[in-house]
Amino acid sequence: MTSNHDSTNRILVVDDDAMLIGEYLRCLGDGFEPDVSTATLSDLEKVLFGEETDENGAAKFNVHSCNQGEAAVEAVRDAVKTGAPFSIVFLDIRMPPGIDGLEAARRIREIDQNVNIVIVTGSLSPEPENLGTEVPPADKIFFFKKPFHAVECRQLAAALCGKWHSDLALRRANDILEQRVWERTEALHKLAYYDPITQLPNRLKLVDELQIQIDETDSSDLITATVLFDIERFSFLNETMGYDAGTQLLASFGKRLIRACQDLPYGGRSIVGRFGADEFACLISGVESADKIKELVETIRQSVEEPFLIDGREIFLKASIGVAWSPVHGRDAKTVFRHAEAALHRSMRRPESSVTYYHSEMEGRAKHKFDRQSELRQAIENGEIITWFQPQLSLHSGKVAGVEALARWLRPDGTILPPADFIPLSEEIGISDLLFEAVLTHVCTTVSGWKKDFSWDVPVSVNLSAHQLRNHKLVEIIRSIMNKQGVEETLLNLELTETVLLEDLTIAEPVLRDLSEYGVGIHIDDFGTGYSSLSYLADLPVQTLKIDQSFVERLTESETNSRVVQAIVGMGKAMDLEVVAEGVETEQQLLMVTKYGCDLAQGFFIGKPMGELDFLDWCHAVDQTTNDLPVLPSAAVESEA
Ligand code: C2E
Ligand code: MG
Ligand code: MG
Repeated sequence: MTSNHDSTNRILVVDDDAMLIGEYLRCLGDGFEPDVSTATLSDLEKVLFGEETDENGAAKFNVHSCNQGEAAVEAVRDAVKTGAPFSIVFLDIRMPPGIDGLEAARRIREIDQNVNIVIVTGSLSPEPENLGTEVPPADKIFFFKKPFHAVECRQLAAALCGKWHSDLALRRANDILEQRVWERTEALHKLAYYDPITQLPNRLKLVDELQIQIDETDSSDLITATVLFDIERFSFLNETMGYDAGTQLLASFGKRLIRACQDLPYGGRSIVGRFGADEFACLISGVESADKIKELVETIRQSVEEPFLIDGREIFLKASIGVAWSPVHGRDAKTVFRHAEAALHRSMRRPESSVTYYHSEMEGRAKHKFDRQSELRQAIENGEIITWFQPQLSLHSGKVAGVEALARWLRPDGTILPPADFIPLSEEIGISDLLFEAVLTHVCTTVSGWKKDFSWDVPVSVNLSAHQLRNHKLVEIIRSIMNKQGVEETLLNLELTETVLLEDLTIAEPVLRDLSEYGVGIHIDDFGTGYSSLSYLADLPVQTLKIDQSFVERLTESETNSRVVQAIVGMGKAMDLEVVAEGVETEQQLLMVTKYGCDLAQGFFIGKPMGELDFLDWCHAVDQTTNDLPVLPSAAVESEA
């Protein structure tokens, strides 16, 4: 093989005829002088090759030659290997005793997919039309008829070298584009499947991985466990320590779980992920028994309870944990994950950090809850939320001096549900305001009916939850309902528990002021359970304290209990508040609260909560029998004390 000089326009000429090789070298070599008729060639070459042209603008070719097909194949192989591939191979068709040009072309194409192959032949065999199918691709194989003119050869070489360069540039651009697309796809994949803070798999990825783990252990007796964690009080920590520290804490928690899983004493595989704000998951596959899962979960739990060092401070965390496993709780990843979440939520509702292992009853409960949600929305619309009425007796006059309206869900099948069964649910699903409106509407309709039918003006107490205090349209809503029913604002009292009030006094205070300005009464419910001082009450527009039932219940148990009640009454009086004793169930309790100076009493001993008609009957009976039924002779009070 021979070559003249180095250039990137590398050309291989292959012919068994030494004369022809000489001809190629002459017309592709540096000394080539185009005649006047072909002078434009150099302009073309200049445009095509730029720097790879001589001072006259003629292209510079780096020509190599060999006289056999096999040698040509080897030359192409070496060129590719050394990173200096040919742009063109001119191939003679018949080169005895070796392989013919077509066979050489096929072998060359296998080695180099980019080189332009020119089949040079004196005959029309092989048929030029078939070359593209014989040695694809068709845009890189050419037919060139011998004998050729030197300029013809040089023009072809110039054009094909130019093409080779632009193909190369296009390929590079494509490669860059492909690389970018790949990188972007990777980034999107990461975003879609990984959590950016901890770099751990997210819910989507976890569920995918869980399915893989389940499928892998499908034919064995081994178990795949899904263990979910919720960091207790994380939002509190996040708020108090700052966002950065919170982020660090999440990252550390993830790392801790990974380490804990790696150290687990079993032979299976584990994956750790983050599937919610402060919610993490460990997928543990290849566990031999449910007992073993419990042992592993306990080990992980202990590990996360070790302190975390964040900003030089030791932070102690507790986590609620929910566990479900396959195949017992399902073979489908989504189902198992959902079951583990149900178990986690159960743990979260418990006061202390705890582990809940899924059991099938939970599914029933979750479904039941779901059904209840849609039922409750419907119930509000259908007017199934009503109130019952419980009388409050004046301990001074012995007359009914007030009524507490207590919500009830009157279901179409006749069952009646207590507030505990639907008030928390209404808050959870964000419809407690609708429920309040339903209750107040029912109360106002009833009260305006009493006024119309019996000219009876009795103040009614309605319970308010923390959610209502956050509704800045509260006063407006109350006003509009009361106006619509023509009920005077002085007839409405709103009961707020002490805990609700203290939860966020900054929110509660202005609302209470607005309400009070409007003219409705504010009563503190379940008083005494909030462990608070009374001092805050002095600044609030409150008129009444309702001593919590638990104090009344224990009244007769010990001297201390009765002194507590007396102290509450005393303080209430000192602040000019009216005091109601709640939960009065016995005559003895009634005597005592009367003696201690309570103003009103409410409880089963006096009357249970009743539907409107029963309540009216009750009032009527009280009126008919004794006008002052519950007020006992003072001698009895004395003897009890
Ligand atoms: P509460 O406001 O403290 O109401 C008193 C509860 O004690 C009522 O239970 C009543 O039936 C019960 N009770 C009354 N006297 C006695 C008694 O002598 N002994 C015993 N053991 N219990 C007595 P209920 O109706 O189940 O209501 C429970 C709680 O649900 C209420 O406590 C109140 O906090 C809440 N609630 C009721 N209706 C509504 C409402 O419309 N909205 C809101 N947000 N909460 C409501
Ligand atoms: Mg109440
Ligand atoms: Mg109460």
